[in-house]
Amino acid sequence: MKSNKNLDLSKEEMKKYGYSVVDTIVEHFDTMNEKPPFSTASRKEMDALFLEEAPEKGMDVHEVLDFVKENVLSEINIASHPKFYSFVPGPSNYISAMADSLATGYNVFSGGWIASAAAAELEIVTVNWLLKLFKFPVKKGGGIFTSGGSMANLTALVTARRQKCGDDFSKAVIYMSDQTHSSNIKAIRTIGFKKNQVRIIPTDLEFKMSFNKLKNAIAKDKLAGLQPLCMIANAGTTNTGTVDDLREISKICKAEKMWMHVDAAYGGGAILSEKGRKELRGIEKADSVTIDPHKWFFQPYEMGCLLVRNHKWLSNTFSEKPEYLRDIEGNESEINFYDHGVQLTRRFRALKFYMSIKTFGLESFREAVSYSIDLADRTEDLIRKSKNWEIVSPATLAVINFRYNPIDQNFTEQQLDEINQKVSQEITGSGEAVLVTTILQKQVVLRMCLINPRTTIDDVKGTLLKCSSLAKEFRKELLT
Ligand SMILES: *Cc1c(COP(=O)(O)O)cnc(C)c1O
Repeated sequence: MKSNKNLDLSKEEMKKYGYSVVDTIVEHFDTMNEKPPFSTASRKEMDALFLEEAPEKGMDVHEVLDFVKENVLSEINIASHPKFYSFVPGPSNYISAMADSLATGYNVFSGGWIASAAAAELEIVTVNWLLKLFKFPVKKGGGIFTSGGSMANLTALVTARRQKCGDDFSKAVIYMSDQTHSSNIKAIRTIGFKKNQVRIIPTDLEFKMSFNKLKNAIAKDKLAGLQPLCMIANAGTTNTGTVDDLREISKICKAEKMWMHVDAAYGGGAILSEKGRKELRGIEKADSVTIDPHKWFFQPYEMGCLLVRNHKWLSNTFSEKPEYLRDIEGNESEINFYDHGVQLTRRFRALKFYMSIKTFGLESFREAVSYSIDLADRTEDLIRKSKNWEIVSPATLAVINFRYNPIDQNFTEQQLDEINQKVSQEITGSGEAVLVTTILQKQVVLRMCLINPRTTIDDVKGTLLKCSSLAKEFRKELLT
């Protein structure tokens, strides 16, 4: 393309280009199930394809697009793939993907009311939907959309600290379990707490926070003149889907005047289903909750959310009044979201949430989540029927952990670890599925997170069958 200081295309060119992009995305939605969900490309291979100086001269628009289609979009993991079982999948949906294109196409600034009244309004409206789902006070409560769960957890901790400590947090202590997501520790370090201001409380055999140990830790800290500041409870640990006993934790927090934060980044979506709601009992008592709409609310990346019982806590924490924002202050009911979190310039995340729920209805979302919780239960039944596989952690909020451990063989723990590790490597490396391991009670186990409503029981059966025949091979190798 010729030098073009306005960085623009003609109307016709824009349309042609845009239709190509849409065609590419639709084709991807239509065919992703047949593609391998995992890219195995190495840095060397990628460098060979892409490494170059920033080109001074432009190229033909379609040539660049075709190059990207062929080389970039083919070497990615497909987190929405029905056999992407690992980490926390990103099931996404087409409406939200298009909504993101609209938000980006209009380049909506979602920071202040005056900048985009409707964008701020939709964030208020959709945050209210979430507050209601989680039985938080809708009028008094508030929240903000963030890039993801990590940023929501960070926002929560800064807010808790501001409310409970003011400026001096030198004596504050934060409690969490050994299953709490690493983003919390990262946030704690980022915002300037010292290592010795964190207590990692061991979990019990079900991976729940152990209360006696928590109570002991709090008592000890108080005796030492420290200030128990905040408890980070889990509602769906990443490893096992475990929910801490939130009602019990809320009692402790109340008694100790501690902030109760619940990290429900992936598990929060379960609130949409009957079974999930029961698991999450007590979440409504929290001061703040992290949820990740880009996980179990089926939104494309990036979208996290922090909910708080009182919206003033956010504005007390994050408001600054510089002179250059003077003219856009507005009145109090017209929320400037830059006053509720870290970012000033923010993309319009509420739009995708709004449009997808308006289009499909909450009902579809509820069905999707209930389906996944059932699918994990059915997967557990399948595995329990086999004499070669054992359940290490039962299906909980659509997460299940299991491992190869045949009852007719006395393998050592080390041999079992080796077999399971190799099964995972082979399954994932072959492009059959993404199924990686985690460590539970010092054992290497396979973990499935089944939150994609497009995963069928046949997908799961197919993968388990392949796992079985691979395990059999590795077992033979060990025995000969
Ligand atoms: C995924 C996850 C996070 C981190 O969220 P990001 O969106 O990846 O930043 C935090 N906590 C839990 C429990 C999670 O599952």
